[in-house]
Amino acid sequence: MHHIEQVYINGEFVTPHGTERFDLYNPATARVIGQVCLADAVDGERAIAAARAAFPAWSKTTKQVRIAALQRMHAAVAARHDDLLEAVVEEYGAPASRSAWMASYPAEVIAQAIAALEAFEFTTVAGAARVEMTPLGVAGLITPWNSDAGFICGKLAAALAAGCTAVIKPSEMSALQTQIVTEALHAADLPPGVFNIVTGRGDTVGETISRHPHVAKISFTGSTRTGKAILRNAAENFTRVTLELGGKSPTLILDDADIKQAVPLAIQAGLMNSGQACVAGTRILVPQSRKAEFEQALAQAIAAVVSGDPRDAKTVVGPMVSERQWQRVQGYIQKGLAEGARLLVGGVGRPEGTWDGWFVRPTLFTDVHNQMAIARDEIFGPVLCVITYRDEAEAIAIANDTDYGLSALVLGGDSGRARRVAQQIHAGRVLVNTLTHEPKAPFGGFKHSGVGREMGAWGISAFMEPKTILG
Ligand code: NAD
Repeated sequence: MHHIEQVYINGEFVTPHGTERFDLYNPATARVIGQVCLADAVDGERAIAAARAAFPAWSKTTKQVRIAALQRMHAAVAARHDDLLEAVVEEYGAPASRSAWMASYPAEVIAQAIAALEAFEFTTVAGAARVEMTPLGVAGLITPWNSDAGFICGKLAAALAAGCTAVIKPSEMSALQTQIVTEALHAADLPPGVFNIVTGRGDTVGETISRHPHVAKISFTGSTRTGKAILRNAAENFTRVTLELGGKSPTLILDDADIKQAVPLAIQAGLMNSGQACVAGTRILVPQSRKAEFEQALAQAIAAVVSGDPRDAKTVVGPMVSERQWQRVQGYIQKGLAEGARLLVGGVGRPEGTWDGWFVRPTLFTDVHNQMAIARDEIFGPVLCVITYRDEAEAIAIANDTDYGLSALVLGGDSGRARRVAQQIHAGRVLVNTLTHEPKAPFGGFKHSGVGREMGAWGISAFMEPKTILG
């Protein structure tokens, strides 16, 4: 059993004022594996005060001092790789395909911030003016459970690079990862108060941060619903926000696509992180003229996907993170059937051979139209829809007919044509015949998928305000 009893405020592990104990589960067994003592609003206030006191000195540090601090953070987080790997498997059942990336990404994203900071121009000239990029102040960083360690490190590295200090409210469901990252960051020996980490509930600590007049910036990753609440709270003090929210991403397969290349990419995009990924390509758009061919190939590929024990190397889809999430996925599969979609593979219930964990059957529906709930709502599980289109114009219209706009994938034989289609899709990131990630490029969403961008110079600028000096 894990017992996490302390939060991190002003450079020290301290017993929180909050007393609520929150159970931590292994989703592969549905058993309690530990407890975390949650911070409350008083702890949130203390953390904000510590970050506020640390801001004047940190905001005046040189680029070299910040780079050196980020390098120490990078080394300390990289040294905990194996512990993080164990935590992401134990705490949310990430299968081997995902857990390896999740354990290395936190250090990698700090390295990306170092590279971006090295190239960052804090002062530029605009006509007769000098423009100085000025850090905003205390940053509130709020992370989701599905990549907690990565988001803590990425957001914190960008905030510190900009000269901000931070209060981090990680997901209450990821306390094991948070503990490992906190210990690593403590070992990096930054000045007290420069970062503070208070694991607590969203409606207490999260609300305290997003409403607080001494918090100048919120960087949030999580659901669109919570993002709206944060945006409303932020309006009161004109708190700057970066919101990385949900998605319902299209995978648009053009009529000249090579089925052997397109199907594995479409499946990988849809089932990423067991379907619990903001960028998951859950709407698969196929040409009407090749419907039967694609239905058969996609169904065959999904039927072969192993859903089960995340520690088994063959597993592609691990358990859902919580019982609530398991119920949500079951509910959407039932909704799909009730709406008249045709089930090709999967369905409600657990996959064969699994019993106690929150395992689901990778599911593929066809005869889906874009107004059905399974095509509009972010399900956050391995439930994919095949939607047909008549021509390219209709394909683009369906791809764009969504509240979201985080990511999209276009697959086609003629890459020039596929890129032209990509230009017409309203999303923060469009991948053409690839699933590779470019951490130097801005990441973020259009429409209900968010506000602002992370990564690279865009990510650092998000924690700053330009100040124009004339004369
Ligand atoms: P969530 O919105 O339930 O919670 C995210 C965080 O917000 C948690 O730390 C939670 O405690 C906190 N929170 C909850 N209510 C709050 C409030 N009123 N004020 C302040 N904070 C509050 O999301 P989740 O279930 O943890 O994560 C899954 C969601 O995150 C999905 O919608 C997914 O698409 C999204 N996500 C987006 C990206 C992206 O980069 N766009 C990446 C990963 C996940």
